Amino acid sequence: MIIQYFTGTPDEEIEAVRAKLRDWGFRVRFNPGELGASPEERIQVDNVFGNVKDEHRVSIGEVDCVKQVIPVEGVPQNLSLVRRGHRHTVTLPNPHGMKAGQGPVEIGAGRPLVVMAGVCAVDAEYTLASHRMAKDAGADLNRGGAFKPRTSPYDFQGLKEDGLKLLAEVRAEVGLPIVSEILDVRDIDLFMKYDVDVLQTGTRNAQNFELLIEVGRTGKPVLYKRGFSNTMDESLKAANYVMEQGNDNLIFCLRGVKGIGHSFRNQGDLDEIVSLSHLIDRPIVYDVSHSAGRKSAVRAIGDMAAAGGADGILLDVHVSPRHALVDGFQAIDTEAELAPMIARWRQLRELTQPVG
Ligand code: PEP
Ligand code: MN
Repeated sequence: MIIQYFTGTPDEEIEAVRAKLRDWGFRVRFNPGELGASPEERIQVDNVFGNVKDEHRVSIGEVDCVKQVIPVEGVPQNLSLVRRGHRHTVTLPNPHGMKAGQGPVEIGAGRPLVVMAGVCAVDAEYTLASHRMAKDAGADLNRGGAFKPRTSPYDFQGLKEDGLKLLAEVRAEVGLPIVSEILDVRDIDLFMKYDVDVLQTGTRNAQNFELLIEVGRTGKPVLYKRGFSNTMDESLKAANYVMEQGNDNLIFCLRGVKGIGHSFRNQGDLDEIVSLSHLIDRPIVYDVSHSAGRKSAVRAIGDMAAAGGADGILLDVHVSPRHALVDGFQAIDTEAELAPMIARWRQLRELTQPVG
């Protein structure tokens, strides 16, 4: 449930309500973003998690300082990421971006579209040029895989630690924060060693709860990719494992699901951008490469994602796709192609969700 207090309620009265809720075994989270025009008009709202019953709602509703008690309808109402008012931003720090002269990037809640672009699998020859190209074309973050989850054990599995090292070196040159996928709890220390800025968890690990817990504990921003064979309810619950570690820096990534169509790699789930933005308060990213699975579809799917209100778009790029170690067929390869695409996505996003 959500509790809204009367404006101007003294802190002690609010604390007394919170103490009662905690006595009942609920968790309470103050919603810091609910601000009015001035501090005096501030709207005080608490989010309450747990097995809330009617009798609790009635009892709290009778307290003098409580203006209203709002039950959260439908989907897992006790999940931390379920929307209870405004939507949250996640700050993507860029401690390494001195060359780029960039400050932190913010994603979500009406901020401009954030683009994450890079090579699917890090390689020694082309990653620097590809990540530079992405930055020159307007990307905000570089996404590169050092550990690759492959369907076949005979396929290239990523450069692993060497890949992380390369990513860190390339970051120092290019200056954008990096996103990289972690496959296994045993690799957490390595990701910390190379100070990966955003930890990605992939669709195949969407219900690897131990991994989600450990990744959550790092406190780093986490790009959680929905499970390609999971219901949305299952994916939302799984993503909550990250937030339950006290980590609010969760970004929810849609990337298509296993479908019955045959023309693309995955069946798109663009409609979820709209449904989820009403349901959850975390930034929503759409992966236009792994959903579409082909280069020729990337622009149009990105158009739809941006117009639908995605907070970010993730895509594969590679300056020499035929040399790409993984997924070259879906990579955008030139700045001439990528820059207008990104500019258009930003415009479309701005048209439907004016920044402010
Ligand atoms: C990827 O982003 O490179 C990837 C493997 O994605 P997913 O987990 O969505 O398949
Ligand atoms: Mn890929």
